[in-house]
Amino acid sequence: ERKTIVGGNWKMNTNRAEASDLAGAVSEGFTNGDQADVFVCPPFPYLIPVAERLSANNGNLVQLGAQNFYHEPNGAFTGEVSLAMLQDLGVSTVLTGHSERRHVIGETDVLINEKTLAALEAGLQVVLCIGETLEQREAGKTNFVNAAQLSYGLAGVTAEQMADVVIAYEPVWAIGTGKTATPEDAQKAHQFIREVLTHGMFNETVGQSVRIQYGGSMKPANAKELLSQPDIDGGLIGGAALKADDFLAIVNAG
Ligand code: 13P
Repeated sequence: ERKTIVGGNWKMNTNRAEASDLAGAVSEGFTNGDQADVFVCPPFPYLIPVAERLSANNGNLVQLGAQNFYHEPNGAFTGEVSLAMLQDLGVSTVLTGHSERRHVIGETDVLINEKTLAALEAGLQVVLCIGETLEQREAGKTNFVNAAQLSYGLAGVTAEQMADVVIAYEPVWAIGTGKTATPEDAQKAHQFIREVLTHGMFNETVGQSVRIQYGGSMKPANAKELLSQPDIDGGLIGGAALKADDFLAIVNAG
């Protein structure tokens, strides 16, 4: 059985006080670590106050995640943040391949792969995000795009390292739009992703153990139905993660 994993991706939201309050409320409300793995990814400037609030409650049951990083260890990379800096603050999970970094910031599959490999090498849990745009879905390319993003993103990752990898399937057209994939469509995509990992890229052990989160307008009202699908093992939550009650309701739906 795969343990449910729910992450809050706060994106470029909150201020210092809100971030701290949100971290406090989430960590006070999440008390059963057997139920799920839970992490939150605040904006960089608030990692320290959030880390302090998380460690004050429940011994870090809610793990600290980072939305981004740079894969080089140090040096002349103006504006970038290294993995060692993040680990110094207690970050244990990082996102790679998020659609906003692919499509808004312009990250390439090659960079996403370098980042994924560097984070695994550093011993972090990596959430590799993949997913098709509306145009790609309508052109019948959903499976093609997901398989390509998996094989580029995970190039050079060993079956053993896959123990630290989580996949987040986030159809781009469902992110921040209020449009959720139907549980059936989401299940189909998740099943395909597991099939690619099992028979295309790795093996049965990896395929059966890797956790695949759904992301895209997930909220308390649709979480239970999505999370009850056989290949949906959790959620990566944007908007609904900014309210502690909604986020905790999603965690409890798992
Ligand atoms: P929303 O939940 O706001 O649609 O965002 C999903 C997402 O991109 C999480 O990484």
